[in-house]
Amino acid sequence: MSNAASDSRLQSFLSLCRAALGPTHVLTEPGDKAPYLIDWRRRFTGDAVAVLLPGSTEEVAAAVKACHAHQLAIVPQGGNTGLCGGATPDHVTPSVVLSLKRLNRIRQVDPLNNTITVEAGVILQQIQEAAREQDRLFPLSLAAEGSCTIGGNLSTNAGGTAVLRYGNTRELCLGLEVVTPSGEIWNGLRGLRKDNTGYDLRDLFIGAEGTLGIITAAVMKLYPAPRARVTALAAVADPRAALKLLETAQQHAGPMLTGFELMSNICLSLVTHHYPQMRYPFAEQHDQVVLLELSDNESEAHARNTFETLMEAAFEAGIVLDAVVAESVQQSRDFWNLREHIPLAQADEGKNIKHDIAVPISRIADFIETTDARIAAAFPGVRMITFGHLGDGNLHYNVSPPLGQDHDAFLANEDAIKHIVHDSVDAHGGSISAEHGLGQLKREENKRYKSEVEIALMTSIKQALDPMGLMNPGKVV
Ligand SMILES: Cc1cc2nc3c(=O)[nH]c(=O)nc-3n(C[C@H](O)[C@H](O)[C@H](O)COP(=O)(O)OP(=O)(O)OC[C@H]3O[C@@H](n4cnc5c(N)ncnc54)[C@H](O)[C@@H]3O)c2cc1C
Repeated sequence: MSNAASDSRLQSFLSLCRAALGPTHVLTEPGDKAPYLIDWRRRFTGDAVAVLLPGSTEEVAAAVKACHAHQLAIVPQGGNTGLCGGATPDHVTPSVVLSLKRLNRIRQVDPLNNTITVEAGVILQQIQEAAREQDRLFPLSLAAEGSCTIGGNLSTNAGGTAVLRYGNTRELCLGLEVVTPSGEIWNGLRGLRKDNTGYDLRDLFIGAEGTLGIITAAVMKLYPAPRARVTALAAVADPRAALKLLETAQQHAGPMLTGFELMSNICLSLVTHHYPQMRYPFAEQHDQVVLLELSDNESEAHARNTFETLMEAAFEAGIVLDAVVAESVQQSRDFWNLREHIPLAQADEGKNIKHDIAVPISRIADFIETTDARIAAAFPGVRMITFGHLGDGNLHYNVSPPLGQDHDAFLANEDAIKHIVHDSVDAHGGSISAEHGLGQLKREENKRYKSEVEIALMTSIKQALDPMGLMNPGKVV
């Protein structure tokens, strides 16, 4: 196509979009588009002919139809906090970024059905607050909750800190509204806990990272708000002791155990170094610290009694070396802040090589010991930044350069380090992406570990739903 013809096609596309969304919601100036063209970690950049900001499901459908007619790829974007480059276009495919952030209405709260119906661009924290106002809990919680959106959470099947009790985002979702790659609207906003009427379309779109369609709204589950919470930090000698503490906590607290996070000493040193207002919680340094949280629907006294019984058992068995219990809501917040500032402190420290892995809980200690040894042998002096949601088997197993080594130069080792880690994950029966998805970061790597049958099934689903390959190309499959 000549330049003049392609320019006139582009102008016709932009006119259609301006008419459907309003001119101020079609961004074409480089300065306006720039924040949408780079990912949170600043590792991926791309280009887009426009950034589209529809304000309703119908406007999303109109924008998708225009893209379909003009063969432009669509990169959906929510809060742009994803860690795998899934919401960033590439530099070669003619694309638009379709931001869902104006779809930000809470459509309905149904306390009796324990559900909330929200549009895709609602910020996670706003859903938590809306639930709280009705004396309910929306349990999805992660460090990016002040800026990530429920559409992004669903599309990455986000995990976070309460998965061991409530499951990940998939398990919190009852129904979806989706705009298909050809611009049809599927209204599957059912607040049902039982519905066996054929293939589960909802589950296809959850975790699809925008490659099968655009989620525009969802019905999410709510739970009764807990009456009391106990948050504590417990120092343990090593990951094996942390696993024994997990077993003890589950025996004594059962479903009351809602948080169980592991943080190695170096993680906490990074946090206290980069955020000096935060204090290391123990008089002595310990190799590993566990953050435990119990949530109780009975009373504060019941929660504290349960916690004390479990800690007594853990001290008696020599599992715990020291412990501090939050005495106020603020102190509980401070403990969580230590945990949630680890990714931020890592980013402040400089670039590192991240792995978001899951292995069966019973094999976590073996995994850490074996993999640490292999990495240390191949790259002496590197710093292992290991932390994560131990209660559900998910570790953020990150590798930082030795002190003093240039961070950018260190990234040249990325493939070699990733292969050591992921081969070990595979050997331990694990997954190379526990909760962040594949995006463009891990698409190729995933092919090393999935069987041909699995990749072929995924490819045929993509082909069936998006035959023109317009939805978020270059991601996932
Ligand atoms: C400090 C920090 C801590 C984090 N902690 C966690 C954690 O504990 N657990 C965890 O799971 N993740 C975590 N993340 C990663 C990230 O916050 C989650 O992946 C989140 O779910 C992304 O939501 P988002 O709205 O920012 O999505 P985006 O980054 O905008 O998009 C993510 C993916 O979803 C697609 N997408 C977005 N919206 C839609 C939609 N409406 N329809 C279709 N596709 C869509 C995008 O195309 C992209 O592929 C963390 C990130 C940061 C920065």
